[in-house]
Amino acid sequence: MRQPLVAGNWKMNGSLESISALMAGLRAEVAEVSGVEVVVCPATVFLDRVSGLIGDTSIVLGAQTASEYAVGAYTGEVSVSMLKEFGCQYVILGHSERRALFAETDAQIAEKYRAVKDAGLTPIFCVGETLQQRESGQALVVISEQLDAVLELLGVEFFQDAVVAYEPVWAIGTGKTATPEQAQEIHAAIRHRIAHKSENVAQELPIIYGGSVNAANAESLFSMQDIDGALVGGASLKVDEFVAICRAAKR
Ligand code: PEP
Repeated sequence: MRQPLVAGNWKMNGSLESISALMAGLRAEVAEVSGVEVVVCPATVFLDRVSGLIGDTSIVLGAQTASEYAVGAYTGEVSVSMLKEFGCQYVILGHSERRALFAETDAQIAEKYRAVKDAGLTPIFCVGETLQQRESGQALVVISEQLDAVLELLGVEFFQDAVVAYEPVWAIGTGKTATPEQAQEIHAAIRHRIAHKSENVAQELPIIYGGSVNAANAESLFSMQDIDGALVGGASLKVDEFVAICRAAKR
């Protein structure tokens, strides 16, 4: 059975003071939520501090991106081995903000995916369509292309011990969530595409939903068969909201 997973993407938010308060709240509350993998993904500069604040709780550390390069003259980049050394177990890849604002391509994301897997870390691989793509009936075409960039370069084995996040771009940070039925339709299609290559890998793959998830809508999203958790942006910065989402993910 797939273990539910809830990951908080803190994006470029926080200060030493605010992350200490956030982690104090999560440490106290998330410890009680068994059976759900809870991941926090702070900005890179806070990884070390958050790793210390996690202490011996079950919360797991993730990064928001990683370089596809291993080492060398890549000013500003952070390698997977550095992330690993600082206690990261997960890396978000292909987030729509990185695709749109930093021009990351499907091919580049596939190279990052390879680096993350080769280091023994778990990718949280984001796919999703824009509003225009959805309205023109292209959602599944776009998502299939995003998946295929990894499937074709690396093979279906690379989806073992990985997480896919369906994040419709029009739902991120907008307060506009996909309905559970809209999300389920895409999650099932993603699983079907992976199953075409390997039924086992597809059945074991956690596919989580992201896009304005909050305490009020989490339960109905998680009631759908192929929604295995959430990638949470805004609500992950609020202890009560994030803890409620983690609790709702419990099966
Ligand atoms: C995200 O950025 O991954 C996200 C899902 O953001 P939000 O929850 O704020 O929509």
